[in-house]
Amino acid sequence: MDAGAQFDEPVLVLDDLYQAFGSLQVVRGLSLSLARGSIGCLLGPSGCGKTTVLRCIAGLEPVVSGAIRLNGKVVSAPGVQVPPERRGVGMVFQDYALFPHLSVAKNIAFGLRTLGREERARRVEECMRTVGLEHLADKYPHQLSGGQQQRVALARATAPRPQLLLLDEPFSNLDVDLRERLSQEMRDIIKRLGITAILVTHDQHEAFAVADEIGVMNQGEIQQWDIPYNLYHRPANRFVADFVGQGVFVPGTVLSEHQVTIELGVLRGKIPKACLIGCEACGKGCRVDVLLRPDDVVHDDTSEQRAEVLNKAFRGAEILYTLRLDSGLKVLALVPSHHNHAIGERIGIRLDVDHVVTFPAEERGSAIEDLGFRIEGPRSARLTSLNPGS
Ligand code: ATP
Repeated sequence: MDAGAQFDEPVLVLDDLYQAFGSLQVVRGLSLSLARGSIGCLLGPSGCGKTTVLRCIAGLEPVVSGAIRLNGKVVSAPGVQVPPERRGVGMVFQDYALFPHLSVAKNIAFGLRTLGREERARRVEECMRTVGLEHLADKYPHQLSGGQQQRVALARATAPRPQLLLLDEPFSNLDVDLRERLSQEMRDIIKRLGITAILVTHDQHEAFAVADEIGVMNQGEIQQWDIPYNLYHRPANRFVADFVGQGVFVPGTVLSEHQVTIELGVLRGKIPKACLIGCEACGKGCRVDVLLRPDDVVHDDTSEQRAEVLNKAFRGAEILYTLRLDSGLKVLALVPSHHNHAIGERIGIRLDVDHVVTFPAEERGSAIEDLGFRIEGPRSARLTSLNPGS
């Protein structure tokens, strides 16, 4: 740590960062700050600039304008470029990047050459214990599973006690089950070590499992920097609402500052400011789009409101139903899986909305035949796609 660094000073600050490759602007005015010991995440679709930000922090890319500070010291700015090896930053990559000709212990010892022999051996042993690989010390990377290799990569990156750990899509080469388990494990290890870290990923489950705070990125800009709960329940704009979690937009009409009516009933709650942005006349009678998450729609046999099951996706503990109301409006409902209904059946539903999320009404795009709930690929317009033209 810098001699002048204050304990409560953020470990990492990005200040109005711009980066471009030729005429292609990749990072546009990005700012964030990461407190000591916290885990941040940049979450966004492919090509939004996440890895470029990480490479700028690591010192592998110069910045066009703005500044990067590590423990208060400017390490990147126009005319300033502290080399990667002098930044005190550790990196974990998606392809593990282990040295194939070195054993697990030697891979971990690689960054510890400045330590004395005994101290180095002690640190290697401690790191192997932390990631639960002490029994594999003499194995080579090709003798390990993907999950084990990623643990070695984590041990190697954290062994020199970096001031900041950078994780670049560290789980994307692993199968889904292992990914979930390892992301939780990795969070525990990083927290136990008290290391400040920043993860980049396009996978929100990974982001939620690992990070304390997440910046949702689109086209080189952070759309919202927040805790996972707020990203899901209080998305700042349509992009975040669409990218994080599932749901549909349904048309609504504002009744008052605290009430909005949709086909399924009247929702009560503060109409968020987001609705007022770009909608100067917002007030009684104003048309809005209301975000309905699958957990906002509850299955209730006693309800008079009926809906037809159009599609269902079994998820173990829950079933995600796509339902059609009499008007043709489609909504999603996440229901405990013992409520098992057939496609075509009409079931009772009611609303249970904790947070009313509205945006100014928008013209809908053209019809998309795919009624799937998790449409992969370009994410814009995914939420509205269930109810085109409504
Ligand atoms: P992914 O999740 O697919 O890795 P990303 O969000 O990490 O995407 P970046 O890798 O940062 O995105 O790339 C952002 C944009 O910059 C992309 O359009 C990419 O093609 C471009 N880009 C990245 N590196 C270079 C480079 N060295 N030269 C030119 N263009 C580049």
